[in-house]
Amino acid sequence: MENQTHRVVIIGCGFAGLAAAQELRSAPVDVTVIDRTNHHLFQPLLYQVATGILSEGDIAPPIREVLRRQRNARVLLGDVVGIDVETRTVAVDRFGSKQTVSYDSLIVATGATQSYFGQDSFARYAPGMKTIDDALELRGRMFGAFEMAEGESDPAKRKVWLTFAVVGAGPTGVELAGQLAELAKRGLQENFRAIDPSMVRVVLIEAGPTLLPMFREPLRVRAEKDLRKIGVELMLNSKVTGVDATGVELLPTNGTLWRLETRTKIWAAGVQASPLGRMVANATGAKVDRAGRVEVAPDCSLPARPEIFVVGDMMSLSHLPGVAQVAMQSGRHASKTITRRLEGLQPLPFKYFDKGTLATIARFRAIGEIGPFNASGFVGWLIWLFIHLAFMTGFRNRIAAVANWGWAFIGRTRRQRTITYQQVVARQAVGRNSMFRNEP
Ligand SMILES: Cc1cc2nc3c(=O)[nH]c(=O)nc-3n(C[C@H](O)[C@H](O)[C@H](O)COP(=O)(O)OP(=O)(O)OC[C@H]3O[C@@H](n4cnc5c(N)ncnc54)[C@H](O)[C@@H]3O)c2cc1C
Repeated sequence: MENQTHRVVIIGCGFAGLAAAQELRSAPVDVTVIDRTNHHLFQPLLYQVATGILSEGDIAPPIREVLRRQRNARVLLGDVVGIDVETRTVAVDRFGSKQTVSYDSLIVATGATQSYFGQDSFARYAPGMKTIDDALELRGRMFGAFEMAEGESDPAKRKVWLTFAVVGAGPTGVELAGQLAELAKRGLQENFRAIDPSMVRVVLIEAGPTLLPMFREPLRVRAEKDLRKIGVELMLNSKVTGVDATGVELLPTNGTLWRLETRTKIWAAGVQASPLGRMVANATGAKVDRAGRVEVAPDCSLPARPEIFVVGDMMSLSHLPGVAQVAMQSGRHASKTITRRLEGLQPLPFKYFDKGTLATIARFRAIGEIGPFNASGFVGWLIWLFIHLAFMTGFRNRIAAVANWGWAFIGRTRRQRTITYQQVVARQAVGRNSMFRNEP
């Protein structure tokens, strides 16, 4: 006999997809969650994996474990490579074998990827930080640079190994630059014999006139002061025009092109929606914005296909930012809309509740905007700590994170410093995301 239960397929189990799945926990539906990784990733703490504070397991619990008690949900590991809106099926590539999954309602929540503003060749030398693979590769490159510097006898070459360039002074770039500076000044003391890690240069490069543009002026000023205090060099109004193995080319506004010699470059400058956004838009006639985000109706569904929802970082609605809270709330809203429809009720428009914005600068220093209130310094950091603990998935992960934070912030060591050769070279070998390479 045919199964009459309404089938909800959720593509992507990040903040939006997981919230959507959990919202359906008591609904009379069958939920299939498809993700290309086996874990739900807490992206805001990726920089701590890269800089050796947390282990990858602390911020990426297995999706199966998270959803183990939700009896109406099943999990499928695979890369979604096609959506047929006529037959209402999703094509999944499971490491070479193809599988088709049918839906009655579809929630697309595949997030965003790094944007190099059309200069994709930069990626080889300046990886971004979106996945566990990225964070481990960066960890390998950063700690590897200290190792190379230690064995280098030429002072000029050693200097190039000890110069780190972070491109993009949004929250990710600021957090990473701050942690790198702190790693060099505190975390690696007495570890080396030939080099002094405190000689490290951390250069934070930003094309725009300010760092952290989403924050109010006094908080930006405070963040800049704190960064400079811990030794980060801030280069504003400087556009990166070239990246290669040993440096970056910089074009300052009203200046002339020059070159910063550096072996380790990290790209934190821009994002674009997952390629599935354009795929869904092409199939349904929906519009996409410049960042590839899909314009949705007020209830987060597609105007021409109300059974399809696009949520989280892929969604373009009322200029909402690409942040975790928007993702979680829009994911939940899509699921609530599905339940309402099943109950014969009209959908409601999505209303975002802004709980505030935070960014850490370094140990015991953060800035935050909560409604009309500004927080900075140690108070800001305590709020940051509390919020991140509250939103991390899994009790055991919280305990592990607190222990690792204790080692790194109260003590001085970074316990998660294991690096492997594969972390650094594997991306070039396997050609990550190659299945999307030929897309328009
Ligand atoms: C380094 C970093 C720091 C950040 N810091 C903050 C912060 O401090 N505060 C904040 O609010 N926000 C922060 N963000 C933004 C926040 O993490 C995102 O807004 C949020 O993750 C978006 O959720 P999402 O569910 O839309 O996408 P994601 O969380 O990116 O999830 C997308 C999921 O889809 C899966 N997927 C992708 N493509 C496919 C496919 N074809 N088939 C199957 N599965 C697929 C991925 O594996 C992933 O699990 C940060 C982001 C980054 C990268």
